[in-house]
Amino acid sequence: MKILMVRPKPSAETIGLQHMMIVEPLELETLYALKRDSDSAVIVDMILEKRSFESFVLEHKPDVLCVTGYITNVSTIISYCQSAKKISNNIVTIVGGVHCEVCPENFENEAIDYRVVRNAAVIFTDLLNHIENKTDLPKGVFCKEDTLENTTLPAFDFRVPFPDRKSVARYRNKYFYVFHEKVALLKTSFGCPYQCSFCFCRIITNKLYSQRPLDEVIQELEQIEEIEIYIVDDDFLVDKKWLQAFIFELKKRNIVKHFLVYGRADFIAENPEMMKELAEIGLKTVIVGFESFSDTELDKYNKKTSVAMYKDTMAVLHREKIDVFATIIIPPEWDKNDFKNMVKVIKSLGIHFVNLQPLTPLPKTGVSYPEDQIIIDKYEYEKWDLAHISVQPEKLSVPEFYKEIMKAYNAVLYRPNVLWKFITTYRPLMLLKMLIGTYRVSKQYKNKIKEAEKHA
Ligand code: SF4
Repeated sequence: MKILMVRPKPSAETIGLQHMMIVEPLELETLYALKRDSDSAVIVDMILEKRSFESFVLEHKPDVLCVTGYITNVSTIISYCQSAKKISNNIVTIVGGVHCEVCPENFENEAIDYRVVRNAAVIFTDLLNHIENKTDLPKGVFCKEDTLENTTLPAFDFRVPFPDRKSVARYRNKYFYVFHEKVALLKTSFGCPYQCSFCFCRIITNKLYSQRPLDEVIQELEQIEEIEIYIVDDDFLVDKKWLQAFIFELKKRNIVKHFLVYGRADFIAENPEMMKELAEIGLKTVIVGFESFSDTELDKYNKKTSVAMYKDTMAVLHREKIDVFATIIIPPEWDKNDFKNMVKVIKSLGIHFVNLQPLTPLPKTGVSYPEDQIIIDKYEYEKWDLAHISVQPEKLSVPEFYKEIMKAYNAVLYRPNVLWKFITTYRPLMLLKMLIGTYRVSKQYKNKIKEAEKHA
């Protein structure tokens, strides 16, 4: 069969990250690796393509269309399937991705034939066999009438094949992540052992945590050509024994890479020796969810960290010259003083790069607000991007809240010492890319402010 695999283009409404990062579509590369010898497949990355989706359907004339994405892509994914069916009703449409796994009901649509809800990386070949040869439908795939209520899902199976990275050869040079050029992705584990209330990641694996075998990870890593490796585990800094063995293998095999990972502040503060060793084998940047500088808020989020430890966290990172990207949650209860205090603490901790996320009650997480306080329609999926304000602020108006977020970004990013560091560290082309990215994000925020002022 001819298979067209598509990564959707983000909506113009979605604020943010697509201007600061475009990374390889690892999940599609994984599915590509599972196609049968008799299949031909092509991956189209609509983030990078200028042509219309329809033109690719007309060019490739697929038997099967596969689209994966996040909550912000739901409407686009549905519209792609509708367009494909309009071109030819014989095209079989398959939808997957983390949002489909948690909220398959959002993809109940005439134009969608199959929704992959569990173990996509294990059952994809069987699904192709089912479509072509009418073999049994693998468990974990929903047909039109299936729902979470009327279907029993199989147990999680976290086995994955090596992704076929050559399947996106024509795009590879263009993948980057905030200041990191030519980035490849690697996954070494699934889920997270922690239970932060706001976090969608832990819901995807139903609170389970599973690590891939080390030898498999090392073998995959050795095959990656890029130097910059973004480890997309929800939390890479979990298991000291595993990390020790990882460090040992990298040294033994003389694997030279630069790593960007997610890690918790408490692990960093409590394991300075391990952070030193990780820095020695190429750890360059850690994305740390500090979330808040108030212990009351941290407890509310079930974060299991404390503000006091953040000084130690930053001391370790500074000592080892590891950059930090900090994420901070902005709850709707904040007033102007809370914003001021956050900026003050960020500066005092020596954090240079932040991602400020208005608290967002993502579906099926532990954060919820009464419906009359939610100001984004749940079907305006493209706005559930962790950058839009989704809950009515308590003490500020919506435009004021957006303005405070912008002010805080400017206060953190546009400091002479920070700008100097960026100028002296990164190549001019990357700086230009980031400058254009931040300009676009701030334009989106300004439009949001205007829009909110109109409705005020
Ligand atoms: S926020 Fe981070 S530490 Fe907390 S549950 Fe999610 S991935 Fe784990």
